[in-house]
Amino acid sequence: MTQKLPADKLRFPFPQPPAAGEPIEIAQGILWLRIPLPFRLNHINIYLLEDGDGWAVLDTGIANKVTRDIWEALAAGPLAGRRLTRLIVTHFHPDHIGLAGWLAERFGLPLLTTQTTYLQCLNISLSPGALDMQVYRDFYIRRGLKSEMTAVVFTQGHAYLKMVAPLPPVFERIAAGDRLKIGGRDFEILIGEGHAPEQAMLYCAEDKLFFAADQVMEKISPNVSVWAVDPHGDPLGLYLRSLKNLKPGLPEDALVLAGHHRPFIGLHERLDELAAHHAHRCDAIHEAAREPKSAAELLPAIFHHPLDPHEMSFAFSEVLAHMNYMLRQGTLAWAEPRDGIELVIAR
Ligand SMILES: [Zn+2]
Ligand SMILES: [Zn+2]
Repeated sequence: MTQKLPADKLRFPFPQPPAAGEPIEIAQGILWLRIPLPFRLNHINIYLLEDGDGWAVLDTGIANKVTRDIWEALAAGPLAGRRLTRLIVTHFHPDHIGLAGWLAERFGLPLLTTQTTYLQCLNISLSPGALDMQVYRDFYIRRGLKSEMTAVVFTQGHAYLKMVAPLPPVFERIAAGDRLKIGGRDFEILIGEGHAPEQAMLYCAEDKLFFAADQVMEKISPNVSVWAVDPHGDPLGLYLRSLKNLKPGLPEDALVLAGHHRPFIGLHERLDELAAHHAHRCDAIHEAAREPKSAAELLPAIFHHPLDPHEMSFAFSEVLAHMNYMLRQGTLAWAEPRDGIELVIAR
């Protein structure tokens, strides 16, 4: 998640985010909580949804002491007297699922999530060695990444494991179109693709509350990445389709409650901006690829500021996403390779 985007046409009914670990009520029976993250994107939003005699939890924060201390303090303080009832996790990224295993055990909560979220997280945890396979390394090198950078891309998987507690051995699957009753509200489960596979979002039509996870946020466009395990995958195509599918089902005046940044109103406006942002990036890549270029050589066309190794890894994977999308659309084509590096050219 790198790119800042304009958000002038959005409205922010709660412009002041809550202090770390101190929930504020933003609708009847809906608490907004922030937990710090040790990255440039320095926080995650957690929501607590009134659920009978307690609170259902939406997402967790990463598995570290700061996050555990916040949950312990909440249970002893602001939420005292009301139990946590269940844990809903939107997607497999460590800021969202990291503490799920610990929370489930500590508070006796069932974990509700999508099948792909559960399996994706479990897969990385069960076979960490697979991350280092030569076939993955070769993929990045063929796409033009310098070998010292491939090492950085690889450490992402290991970093993931440090931020995620072991999952509970059982979960409750939620899937597209499911209805979930939480307290007095009915929610429909919507599924977003492109940022993470089978990312769950929740929509309450009666109160026009849309828990968008990382699919639609103010300011930033969620990272859309190709990974070596699915080298020809088209996450950007999936993401754009997903944005398009959200529009007719959800009203413009829904309150969008995302995984990061502030709640806002102006969903359709924001969906259009996000689609335009990616169209603009495709144009820039098209322009840069008038001469044959590798993915690595296309990177400066859409990322103009210096990148630290962590950002570089996501930026490169995001270039790959645009490249694969454009290859499928026919606006790029493969060119003759140069010294084993695969090149594309504008069509
Ligand atoms: Zn995410
Ligand atoms: Zn996130």
